[in-house]
Amino acid sequence: MPAAQPKDMLAIPRIDRPAPGARFRPVLHVVQAEQKLEGAGFPVRRPFPSVDLSSADPFLMLDHLGAIEYAPGEAKGAPWHPHRGFETVTYIMDGAFQHHDSTGGAGLIANGSTQWMTAGAGILHEEMPTEELVATGGLFHGVQLWVNLPSSQKWNPPRYQDIPADQVALLSSHDGSSLVRLIAGELGGHKGPGVTWTPITYGHATLAPGSRMELPWRTDFSAMVYVLAGYGTVGESRRVVGEGELAVFGAGDTIVVEAAEQPEGPSKNLDVLLLGGQPIGEPVVFYGPFVMNTRQEIQQAIDDYRAGRLGRIPAEFLGRARNN
Ligand code: MN
Repeated sequence: MPAAQPKDMLAIPRIDRPAPGARFRPVLHVVQAEQKLEGAGFPVRRPFPSVDLSSADPFLMLDHLGAIEYAPGEAKGAPWHPHRGFETVTYIMDGAFQHHDSTGGAGLIANGSTQWMTAGAGILHEEMPTEELVATGGLFHGVQLWVNLPSSQKWNPPRYQDIPADQVALLSSHDGSSLVRLIAGELGGHKGPGVTWTPITYGHATLAPGSRMELPWRTDFSAMVYVLAGYGTVGESRRVVGEGELAVFGAGDTIVVEAAEQPEGPSKNLDVLLLGGQPIGEPVVFYGPFVMNTRQEIQQAIDDYRAGRLGRIPAEFLGRARNN
């Protein structure tokens, strides 16, 4: 995974070990991601929303894209579609997504970079593999997280944050054995670059075989760990987790993750996403690409989309959009 890597693990800031007497959060349950096809038909694993986890407030959806080795001509994306009422956070570890939107914005998300898109009141965009990835094929691995907005912020104008891999906050566990790439929010007094409307902590950690990572975690935040690759255990009870599984933690101020000592399979390290945030606690009406508080607001979003009030596909893409 060519996600951000420090030149020297020992030179990056360390997250203090939680003090003795820390209250380790218990693992409430482990959710197996459901397999879906998204966009033009690319495979995703989705731990939530799912049968086993309907609410992950303040998060709405987590899609694990790949890892997949595309053959030439095979890579697919999500052609033009609208969003309203929340934020999409796209983190690409391998390969690349090319992004265009109805405000004329464009960007490349690749190799450890993150794009944070606040859809807010509404936007149209496309998220496609680069022409090069389509032509030659290759490895693709990424994650898209949907973060809800409270009703007071659903009508904010769209906004973007591009977070290149070299701007992610690189931190190590107290013993230097685990790397934490903090994308947004705060962890043990350290801050990630992403600016969030809804207070959250979001990062990607890599644990070497046999290492134990203890992290302080805000008591008012939810806490979840999703396994991107490898296997190990979560919680003091050492519940075993593997790729595609999401652990949901209960109350406390510390989370613990351990990597298997002698892992079998292709991944020697344990790679996990760390997610938590302040629950919004409002009604959620989720309809495809729109997430609002009421059914009426969903109907309004559909009407607004049909009337072009969420934006229009820029003229230069219209020929291509018709061909999709
Ligand atoms: Mn989208």
